Amino acid sequence: MRENPDRTAGDRHMTYKAPRGTRDVLPEESWKWQRVERVFRATADRFVYREIRLPVFEETELFARGIGDATDIVRKEMYTFTDRKGRSLTLRPEGTAGVVRSFIEHSMGRGSRLTKLYYFCPMFRYERPQAGRYRQFWQWGLEAIGSMNPAVDAEIIHFSVNLFESLGLAGAEARINSAGCPTCTPSYNELLRDRLAGSLDQFCADCQVRYERNPRRMFDCKNKHCLELLKDAPSILESLCDECTQHFASVQDLLSRMSVRFVVDTSMARGLDYYTKTVFEVHYAGLGAQSALCGGGRYDALVEELGGAATPACGVSSGVERLMTALEDTGVMAAREPGPSVYVASLGSDAALAAATVIAELRKSVSVETDYQGRSLKAQMKEAGKLGAGHVVIIGEDEVARGVAVVKNMTTGEQDEVGVEKVAALLVERLASAGGGT
Ligand code: AMP
Repeated sequence: MRENPDRTAGDRHMTYKAPRGTRDVLPEESWKWQRVERVFRATADRFVYREIRLPVFEETELFARGIGDATDIVRKEMYTFTDRKGRSLTLRPEGTAGVVRSFIEHSMGRGSRLTKLYYFCPMFRYERPQAGRYRQFWQWGLEAIGSMNPAVDAEIIHFSVNLFESLGLAGAEARINSAGCPTCTPSYNELLRDRLAGSLDQFCADCQVRYERNPRRMFDCKNKHCLELLKDAPSILESLCDECTQHFASVQDLLSRMSVRFVVDTSMARGLDYYTKTVFEVHYAGLGAQSALCGGGRYDALVEELGGAATPACGVSSGVERLMTALEDTGVMAAREPGPSVYVASLGSDAALAAATVIAELRKSVSVETDYQGRSLKAQMKEAGKLGAGHVVIIGEDEVARGVAVVKNMTTGEQDEVGVEKVAALLVERLASAGGGT
């Protein structure tokens, strides 16, 4: 076993830390993650996508073929290891390859059905950790496998915009383009090379390599000077074959019919090589330069590439950390976790017994917190306020002697004295009529 390079010799008695590039999501934050996941799953239900839970690791070869040997992910970023029997395995760096492997393995496309799947799970990439970049991060994604229909592309774009709007990012907008198909991209690549040949020496070294291998990738360059040089480059839309032209027009017609906000952005070339026809990103203007919230498109050749029968498909994926930051930066996500519906405060052992009955009854349907530290009633009231409890039930020594409890509404400040056996029913009714509960 090799030493952890993040530790020095003197560290031997140090306590442990989460591995570099990973982090704990603590309760102060995890409730926000739960909210995002809940809204995501509810949206998937409305669009009738069903969950697939994938293995955390797959054969290395699957990713090398599915993502592409030439990509940064495969060349530099995979967590690859050899197991005890010498198999090369890799922690999944993205979801599509695993979904397609599973689709083929379980013959999901039998009977020419359309298979609609979603995932929401962690991915692993050995990247240099920096703001918003982790070695374990989460993605949600959809894959619809088995149809050439442009309505499927439109559905996935609609889903993505709709999800962000449901989370409160009103004004999310799709940017769409076509990546063409094997019929039309070779002539576009030639056209692009022709037009850029004269200025090639002014491009960065990476772009000069892209020029030879796949000139469309030059649009992906982060270098401003390169992007400036590409300003007058011919648009792929002029080189599309009839089928791709029609497909792209249909996607736009459908999006308009569904009132999905979109613009055509001919400079968009998604990072992965496997895209065909529709490619898209959804952006939120409030986020500045890093405004993309998700990206996806059609990948009609991938299922066959991974050993299945030729099957068209379309998908999207999105980083959840990025989405969380967007929700926080735009102030869309409440800064505070909703408190428990009820806090039960009691003083003395008799009152604690009466309180136990009330708490057990209430917990059949609502969230209840109480005190186990033997604090004063005043301190317990303060704690209830700090937690943001909706109501407080107070059972002091005087109340327990008289068989009553005080019920206080923390929003209005109103309080009533109620027979202790009636407290639970009264609160359940009040919370239900206020649309509250847990
Ligand atoms: P990709 O699969 O490379 O297209 O990435 C899709 C999205 O996943 C990106 O836009 C990011 O939001 C997110 N993502 C990719 N890599 C990381 C990472 N190392 N840490 C956090 N999020 C990431």
